[in-house]
Amino acid sequence: MIQLSDKIQNLETSATLAMAAKARELKTEGKDIIGLSLGEPDFNTPDFIKEAAIQAINDNYNSYTPVDGYEDLKKAVQLKFKRDNHLNYNLNQIVVSTGAKQSLYNIASVIINPGDEVILPCPYWVSYKDMVKLNEGVPVEVQTDLEQDFKMTPDQLRSAITPKTKMLWYSSPCNPSGSVYTEKELRALAEVLKEYPDIVVVSDEIYEHINFGEEKTFSMAQIDSMYDRTVTVNGVSKAFAMTGWRIGYIGAPEKIANACKKLQGQVTSGANCIAQRAVITALEAPVEKIQYMIDKFKSRRKLILDLISRIQGFECNEPKGAFYIFPNVSFFFGKTFNGKKIENATDFSMFLLEVANVATVTGEAFGSPNCIRISYAASEANIEEALERIKKSLT
Ligand code: PMP
Ligand code: GLU
Repeated sequence: MIQLSDKIQNLETSATLAMAAKARELKTEGKDIIGLSLGEPDFNTPDFIKEAAIQAINDNYNSYTPVDGYEDLKKAVQLKFKRDNHLNYNLNQIVVSTGAKQSLYNIASVIINPGDEVILPCPYWVSYKDMVKLNEGVPVEVQTDLEQDFKMTPDQLRSAITPKTKMLWYSSPCNPSGSVYTEKELRALAEVLKEYPDIVVVSDEIYEHINFGEEKTFSMAQIDSMYDRTVTVNGVSKAFAMTGWRIGYIGAPEKIANACKKLQGQVTSGANCIAQRAVITALEAPVEKIQYMIDKFKSRRKLILDLISRIQGFECNEPKGAFYIFPNVSFFFGKTFNGKKIENATDFSMFLLEVANVATVTGEAFGSPNCIRISYAASEANIEEALERIKKSLT
């Protein structure tokens, strides 16, 4: 009999992908499901990027690329970090990977030893916890709530640190809360970290451009004392509507970059060549070229916040970036609707899928069991219809 490894048996299925698959399955069965579960822009990849890919195919880019990415792509990444984040990375500090997801997994693999603790402010992005566990690390969840805009305070950070702490890992703008750490807040966290010089920080900035301007983007690595131990992660999936192209990248201390490159050389040999060529064009373009998508997300944020405020029981912060709302739905726990008793956020999310035919993701997957995540990377018509259905299902 086939006996799978303990490692894979203990791994959770990605809740975001599982919910999207379930919604797809129900759709195939003929159910009219509105999918607000997956964090995926509903735009097409811009034409100027598609044209660069077509050109690359015609130019016969078809061989293995350097493991850490084409040199001209790494130069484009280097310029992007300088232009948008005031960060100076040498080319040997940059590694291009098959999506930011792989970049993150690489980092977890090259940093975590069995038993090492990794601090994850909740809510965290769904895959962080399992990436830690896959590498035999111990996730240390730090609870935050709506009142603190889902951001960890310096005191909370200090209390979570132990002699085993190896890494702090967060996203800003945050998936799922949309919160953005300000420069002041990051400097305050860095003050605590000054006392613990061996802790590595992973700053996942994949939603950097989907920032509605209320909180300016600031990177932990911009703080002098943090530059030498922060890995800045980014990618093109979100801002450029390129989820399926699978390109992400890091700027990191050279030692970490080299380790990621070594790992990648044994695991994937490097990212897809055509996608890499297209991403050079994407990153070299002025941000104004993608502004129309960001503007759309901003107006959809207003729409969904407005609609949700009209339904009793959803308590929301105003997300400053990304394309999710993360309402606290504990009001519904212990209540019965449509003959179904709701005990927790997972029940609530399933209820919305089955009764309202709207797919969302339970906050339990993000370490925040009182909330659910609703993506507004969807058309206005779908957002309006979904919220109408939710409202009806709860009355
Ligand atoms: N980090 C966060 C916070 C995300 O939401 C995602 C979503 N996919 C990723 C990383 C991974 O992105 P990619 O598509 O580049 O693998
Ligand atoms: N990051 C997206 C989300 O959170 C895509 C799903 C995934 O990569 O797991 O929905």
